[in-house]
Amino acid sequence: MHIINPATEELIQEIAEDDFQKVKGKFEILKKGQPQWAAVPVEKRIACIKRFHALLEEQKKDLAETLTREMGKPLQQSYNELNGARARVQYFIDNSAKYLAEEWVVTEGATREKIVYDPLGVVANISAWNYPYLVGMNVIIPALIAGNAVCYKPSEYTILTGMHIARMLYESGVPEACFQTVIGKGAVGEYLLQLPFDGYFFTGSYKTGKYIAEKIASKLVPSQFELGGKDPLYVMDDVEDIDKTAAAALEGVVYNNGQSCCAVERIYVHEKIYDRFVSSYVEQSKKLKIGSPMEPVDIGPLSRKEQVQFLLSQIKDATDKGAVLLAGGKKSDRAGYYIEPTVLANVNHQMKLMTEESFGPVVGIQKVASDDEAVQLMLDTEYGLTAAVYSKDFDRADAVMRKMNVGTVYWNCCDRVSAALPWSGRKNSGLGTTLSYQGIRAFVQPKAYHIRG
Ligand code: NAD
Repeated sequence: MHIINPATEELIQEIAEDDFQKVKGKFEILKKGQPQWAAVPVEKRIACIKRFHALLEEQKKDLAETLTREMGKPLQQSYNELNGARARVQYFIDNSAKYLAEEWVVTEGATREKIVYDPLGVVANISAWNYPYLVGMNVIIPALIAGNAVCYKPSEYTILTGMHIARMLYESGVPEACFQTVIGKGAVGEYLLQLPFDGYFFTGSYKTGKYIAEKIASKLVPSQFELGGKDPLYVMDDVEDIDKTAAAALEGVVYNNGQSCCAVERIYVHEKIYDRFVSSYVEQSKKLKIGSPMEPVDIGPLSRKEQVQFLLSQIKDATDKGAVLLAGGKKSDRAGYYIEPTVLANVNHQMKLMTEESFGPVVGIQKVASDDEAVQLMLDTEYGLTAAVYSKDFDRADAVMRKMNVGTVYWNCCDRVSAALPWSGRKNSGLGTTLSYQGIRAFVQPKAYHIRG
């Protein structure tokens, strides 16, 4: 396999893909090692994760530079991702023991009752490239703390980052017998589906997630899917500062080069402030600095070459159907997978731009006449990850947020994730929950004890 720098299109490294025998061998190592890891007291397992947390800080320069080189996010954003990853790991360090401890539910009478939380066993984690440290931590850390063995498949676009995660876990005292990394593209992920894992935890696209869900259904093992989105942001006419709101929306669209699962993908603006909002948004968008992600820029390259064409075709579909291009719209004329931050107005839901996930720094801004119209458009999607409302009136915003069929709602913020809150998608955005105490319990199965005598 060739690991390519998306900013320069140069080869970073060649690496061998695992074949089925190798993957099977890794599975067998984990199968043998998992009971021993589960027998280690939870405090000792957490002690390993504390050392891992410290390494994330100590080695951050190398970790951030590796990530930026192989997937193209601006370097400062790689540091931000590592800060976020440490916060998530810290949440699991602080909270796991409490939620994994046995729970007495009936302590008096002839029969006493308690719940014991057993690990699932050997779990597969098939992961995405856009935030490999963050989405990796969501699964790897709580799974290991709960006593599972983990077979981690980093995305083929962030293999070197995945290898750093494995190396640091081993340096932290996590045995190789309970953590293994498999290297390769989708075909190697497919091998994992053929092996008898005790759980599957997937982060990636709806298309792959659905395929995996169907393929493993008959195994009847726990599985979770964190998938894509088409997340709306609605600006009400009472926002106090239109420029500030436009800046926040713009950041939600373009952060991570627009490749966030919860990126703002469509904007609705009340007609009373539409023109002012659009002109502020466009003005700020035109000031964004595009360039090498190793420099202090706002926008680097996309991670995948084919995504440039995909976005250009979405833009063409929109303009063919009457959208007005107000900024960007072209591939940037330098080596690498760059596309200009793009703004389209006069859009509607006949356009792919407003209905299918873009995953790039491209957005359509649509005018609405009322909150009801905004709600109807926001709900007109196959996805259900997040939805944001900007307004000075919480009750008015909440009337919209309550109607959203999504896992996360935001008032006067967007494109954020908290370790203390459940992260889940509805509809085509996924199934199951990571983060929060629910994302700790996702990696265990309850055993009911009936105790007499
Ligand atoms: P992808 O579906 O292309 O790939 C995800 C992983 O699946 C990769 O490791 C890939 O090698 C593997 N894979 C591909 N085919 C497979 C197969 N047949 N069997 C087993 N494994 C297979 O997704 P991606 O491009 O890596 O990630 C981008 C998508 O992920 C976007 O849609 C984004 O919204 C979503 N995402 C969601 C969240 C969330 O928390 N909801 C977080 C990050 C990314």
